[in-house]
Amino acid sequence: MIKFKMNMNLKDTSFGEFLKPSQIIFDLKNKEKLSAIEELLDSLVKEKLISNKNLTLTRIIDRENLESTALGHGIAVPHARVDTEKEIAVAVGRSSEGIDFDSPDGLPVNLIILVVWNPSIPGLFNHLFAGLASFLIKPENRERLFRARDKNELYQVLSEIHFSFPREDKIINRASLLKKLQNIELKIRRAPKEKLDELLKHRNLIREELDQSLLARFDLLMDRYGYAVAEVVDGVCQSCNMSVSTQMASAIEESNDIYICENCGKYLVAPQKKEKPKEKTEREKLAEEKKGTRSKISRKVKPAAKTKKKK
Ligand SMILES: [Zn+2]
Repeated sequence: MIKFKMNMNLKDTSFGEFLKPSQIIFDLKNKEKLSAIEELLDSLVKEKLISNKNLTLTRIIDRENLESTALGHGIAVPHARVDTEKEIAVAVGRSSEGIDFDSPDGLPVNLIILVVWNPSIPGLFNHLFAGLASFLIKPENRERLFRARDKNELYQVLSEIHFSFPREDKIINRASLLKKLQNIELKIRRAPKEKLDELLKHRNLIREELDQSLLARFDLLMDRYGYAVAEVVDGVCQSCNMSVSTQMASAIEESNDIYICENCGKYLVAPQKKEKPKEKTEREKLAEEKKGTRSKISRKVKPAAKTKKKK
């Protein structure tokens, strides 16, 4: 993990950087979703990769309740963002019998890849997840994972998973970019001819920074409703006027991750207060850290902590 931190400028890294054979349980004892997740968390506690098992478990369950993290084809990726833990901790569990995970394809899950991450490196989970997904989508790769005869063989296959991580200056607040994109799209609709070129250029610049899957959904919402991004004000989605969960509301304020309204499907963003947290000076950042209730060391791009809001 330390190595990873120092290699922030590397563009490519491997899943093997985060996984050791000791974080793999080749034969999960538990045959039930929650107890299997707990068994994996125990292995992370043993490896001293997480310290607060109960909190982590609660977060993972919250996430599962939102929507199963089973991907189909017998694989699930339960995950949670936990501010108090290290950058990232992964554990892998295999179950030959299979575990009921509420999968989209109804199949039991034979391989659980559990990820706990800390938002101190924005975008880390998304890139890890993208790397996992592009590996697991290939049937021959899944086949090799399922055919592994022991822990070490499974480890070898998993270590092949590569993911690219953007350079630090490319790490951006995607939620605020989506909002900017929406503003520009709306302007483009009404723009006089002479302004159109500049707006289109600006739009393309932003689109280059965002993932294809995010954009596809964004375009769909824009087409259907005329807008795609809604602010969350006092815990209420401004598009549909429904409350979002407390956890989600505080998460939206604290992280750069993308959240989707469970009710209306819009992308949720925090209301605009302080513009461009990226350009804060060191001194401003320090002042904000002092203001934050807990003395968590916040890193560059992370917005000032508002831990008070947590229940
Ligand atoms: Zn909504």
